[in-house]
Parts: sequence; C-alpha cells; structure tokens
Amino acid sequence: MMLTLRGLEGFCPTYRRLLWRHLRKFSSGAQKEQYDLIVIGGGSGGLACGKEAADLGKTVAVLDFVKPTPIGTKWDIGGTCVNVGCIPKKLMHQAALLGHSIHDARKFGWNIPGDITNNWEELSHAVQMHVRSLNWGHKVQLNERKVKYYNAYGSFVDANTVRGTKKNGDKIYLQSDNIVIAVGGRPRYPNFPGAREHCITSDDLFWKKKPPGKTLVVGGSYVGLECAGFLHGLGFDTTLLIRSIPLRGFDQQMAKLVTDNMTDCGMNIQYGMIPTHVEKLTDNTLKVELQSVDGTKTITNNFDTVLLATGRDPLTSELNLSSAGIETDNMGKVIVNEEEKTTASGVYAIGDVAENRPELTPVAIKSGKLLARRLFLNSKELMHYDVIPTTVFTPLEYSTVGLSEENAIAQYGEENLEIYHAFYKPLEYTIPERDSSQCYIKVITERYNEQKILGIHLIGPNAGEVMQGFAVAMRCGATYQQLSSVVGIHPTCAEELVKIHITKRSGLDPTVTGC
Ligand code: FAD
Ligand code: NDP
Repeated sequence: MMLTLRGLEGFCPTYRRLLWRHLRKFSSGAQKEQYDLIVIGGGSGGLACGKEAADLGKTVAVLDFVKPTPIGTKWDIGGTCVNVGCIPKKLMHQAALLGHSIHDARKFGWNIPGDITNNWEELSHAVQMHVRSLNWGHKVQLNERKVKYYNAYGSFVDANTVRGTKKNGDKIYLQSDNIVIAVGGRPRYPNFPGAREHCITSDDLFWKKKPPGKTLVVGGSYVGLECAGFLHGLGFDTTLLIRSIPLRGFDQQMAKLVTDNMTDCGMNIQYGMIPTHVEKLTDNTLKVELQSVDGTKTITNNFDTVLLATGRDPLTSELNLSSAGIETDNMGKVIVNEEEKTTASGVYAIGDVAENRPELTPVAIKSGKLLARRLFLNSKELMHYDVIPTTVFTPLEYSTVGLSEENAIAQYGEENLEIYHAFYKPLEYTIPERDSSQCYIKVITERYNEQKILGIHLIGPNAGEVMQGFAVAMRCGATYQQLSSVVGIHPTCAEELVKIHITKRSGLDPTVTGC
C-alpha cells in the first residue's frame, strides 16, 4: 500500500508532515528517493526552477524524456525552446535575414558573385551542433549544482510520489513534498488521412537532414508564419495556408501588415483553405488535397514537404494526474492559481502546460525561478502574467507589448483611447531601395490625464531588440508624456517610437518623411 499524506488526517498539519516524512522512510514497496523538489520536465521552466532550488541549497531531481515524433525525430534535454523552438528558429531566421542582407550589400558597393544560394545541409548541421552544445551545457549546469537528472518519463503515483520510466523500461520512484509539473506541449496533428504518416511539424523541421524543397505550411499563427517566413527567405518555394485570420489574438491591423509583407516578398498565402488528404507518390512528393473551409472548392497540388503548424497540446494525458487529484481544463492544461499551485497540495505547474499562461520561454523561466524562491526562500513575489513583450520573427519582425487595439477598445472604450501611429522608412532601406510599406508603429494610450501607455506595436527590422526596453518602460507605468519627453537616438528605427505624435483620431497622414 502506498503511504500518503491524506492517510494521516486528524493530526495537525505540521505534525502530519513530519510524521509522514518519518513514516514513509519505512513504508513498504520499491525504494524511493527523497528530494526537496522533484521537477517533471527539463525544458525552459523546469530547468530554471530546479537550478534555482539547487542554488538555494535544496536537493532536486529533474526528469526529462522526449518521445520521438511520428517520423522518429528526437532530441536531448532542454525542452522545446532549445531543441525545436526559439533557438533553432531564431538561427534560421538569422540565416534568412543574411540572405536579404547579401542582396542589399550589392547596392552598398560590395562585389558579390552572381548566384548566391543557401545550403540547407550546412545550415541545419550548424544549427544542430549549436543545439547539442546547449544540451551539454544544461547537463553540466545540473551536475555542477548536484541536481539529479533522470532521462525518464515521469508520472504520478500520488501527490507526493513520482514514478520515472527509463527508455529500457526500468522504473524509479521519487518522493517529495514539492513537485513541479513542467512538461510543456507538443504539436497537434489535424485529423485527416496522411497527416501523421506524411506530414512533419516544427519538431521535425529543424532536424531535417534533406532540404525541405517546395513546402506547404499549414497554420496562420506564430509557428506557421515564422517557419514559412524563414523557409521562403532561404529560397524555398513556400505556400502558407491560413484557414481563418493570421495571428489570432494579436492586433489585427498589425497582423495584416505582417502577412502583406510576406506576400510582397513573394510568398504564396492562401486564405480559407485546409488540407483534407495527403498522399505520398512514387517519386516521394506529396499530393495534397486542399478544401475551402465552406467545402465548396477543392484543389490538389504537389509539395515536397507539408509542415503542420496547427497548434500544440499540453503533455498531460499520460501523467496519471487523477491519482494525485490534479485537475485540468478541457484542453488538458493544468489548472493553477496565481502561486502556480494545482488542485493537489504540494504540486505546482509552470510554463506551457499551465492554464492561461503565455506560451513563451521567458515566461516559463521566470515563473519557475519565482516559484523556487517562494518555496525555499520565503519569497512572496508572484509572477506577473501581463505586460509581456513578444516578437513574431517573420522575417520582418513584429514586436508588441500590452494590449492590441481590439482589446484596448473592448476594455476602455474607443472614446477613452488615443492611438498614435506612424509609417517610417528605416535608413538602411534607402540605398537598396527596399519597400518599407509595412514598417509601422502604433502606440495605444489612455486619452486623458497623463495618457498611460496601454500597448506598443512595432513592425520593422530588429523590432524584438527595440521592444525589450520599451517593455521595461511600460512595466514601470510609462505615459505618453514621458515617452514624448525622451530624446531619440538618431538615426535609428527605435527613435520613431519617441517621435510618434499623429493620432488616428486626427485623420492626418501617418507617413513619416525624413528626419
Ligand atoms: P518545454 O520547453 O516544452 O519543456 C518540457 C520538457 O518536458 C520537454 O523536454 C519534454 O520532452 C519533457 N516532458 C514532457 N513530458 C514529460 C514526462 N512525462 N516526463 C519527463 N519529461 C517530460 N518562445 C519564445 O519566448 N520565443 C520564441 O522565439 C519562441 N519560438 C518558438 C518556436 C517554435 C517552433 C515553438 C514550437 C515554440 C516557440 N516558443 C518561443 C515557445 C517556447 O518554446 C515554449 O514556451 C517553452 O519552451 C515552454 O517551456 P516549458 O518549460 O513549459 O516546456
Ligand atoms: P496557435 O495555437 O497559436 O495557432 C494555431 C494555428 O493553426 C492557428 O492559425 C489556427 O487557425 C490553425 N489551425 C488549427 N487547426 C487547424 C487545421 N485543422 N487546419 C488548418 N489550420 C489550423 O499555435 P502555434 O503552434 O502557432 O503556437 C503555439 C504557441 O507557441 C504560441 O501561442 C506562442 O506562444 C508559442 N510560440 C512563440 C513564438 C515566439 O515567441 N516568437 C514562436 C512560435 C511559437 P485558427 O486561428 O483559424 O484557429
């Protein structure tokens, strides 16, 4: 019989915990290792939480296990961001930007020979080598802190006991008063014939040895737009399929500018279509049947690769959460409160697996660190889940912090808002005669008093780098008066933000001309 805290009801809580700790050492069953903290999932959030707890002198075990994709792609410790997310994506984004820069460079006087092409094998190998160095770095850091790392699949036995299943089937049992669920998510496959058999996801793309060739990207959000963006930038014939709207949840004026830019750069974007059947032909190409969302139109086209970017599911179905009394929402995400506590005492959830959290690496990391400090340093600091900046790397970057125009109107009412905006031309676009039609800024503020800033949106080169500092200002409660009192750094794109003065309400032309 498994000993549980609940079995000791009737004792006062402190005595109950002490007694339980003492008794479980002598309880029957398999040998169980005791830790101050067990983390299930060695990705952005789990590693941050585990390392922080170890730095605070606690004994920590981290379990991380990657189940291969349907076509067999697998990777090592570090989670989505390191292996199949932010890191390989940003490196490929950089590769695409370099391609643009080579074209620009000719106009800046560089003698560059004729045909410049990208070598996918070299690029993906270089990216994979970097990822492996990060995997290694994580293991070293765990080792230095004496964190016990298990390459094992974790699941709950009860609210204080985790079973780890190793690749060879061996089992280990770990016990703790504090267990953190940080298992993240994996790509969701739509339910049409050929999806799992012949299509890939972002989990495969970055580890793909052969060039993807002519590619169909399905999905109109972060992953779809970013992957389509760098594939097109690398020179692959790329079609992006958006079944409804691009970048759902983002400011839709900005989202339209992003997709307009992709179209202007030559990418084929098809709206209102979904794949319904994918079949592999004898020449290894994929015959794809596409249908309009209303079912009235069907077309077929052949591709070398079909990349599904149709959302992600939390990895909770095999955690045996019910054995520990941990509840999930209808999407399978773990229900948590503002302290990351689940419905089971002593069990917490952070990162992509937790309900109502932005699925971003810095969010998972910060919430993991803060949780460790609350558990082991008597800290009271909670994670703020609002005013979180983010960037869509498409390759022209769209970065934003705070409210979209739609959400600002819904929350404040249009009559209580001032929306400043401006089109601008980055100086570096002038000599190569690059089109700057989509380089645009929008600052949403309260209309009255000091005009507190509610949202900032920026499309342009290096928008992510620019936005980080403005996010600090917004976190500090910056107002429009403060923004416009700042002297710009000339000549930069960032200065356009402090120069912004034309309101939508005025109807004036927001096209910026010159210094
Ligand atoms: P993860 O990093 O997913 O880690 C969870 C780990 O737990 C994984 O290693 C998993 O294999 C393991 N695991 C799962 N179940 C078990 C189990 N039962 N036992 C043991 N181990 C288990 N965010 C950004 O901020 N910026 C970006 O530019 C960005 N780009 C992205 C690009 C792509 C293509 C994708 C898919 C995501 C991107 N993200 C980006 C999101 C970011 O990667 C995630 O928000 C972040 O990785 C979440 O961290 P996590 O710790 O919650 O989960
Ligand atoms: P999302 O859930 O954000 O978007 C899924 C997209 O797929 C939507 O456009 C959706 O369309 C579409 N879709 C869903 N099902 C189908 C279907 N059957 N056929 C066709 N299209 C379909 O998922 P993502 O995978 O793009 O992103 C997951 C999270 O990862 C993001 O929320 C983000 O937090 C994180 N991320 C962050 C990045 C960054 O910081 N730069 C980069 C990449 C990911 P519809 O709108 O019609 O439902």
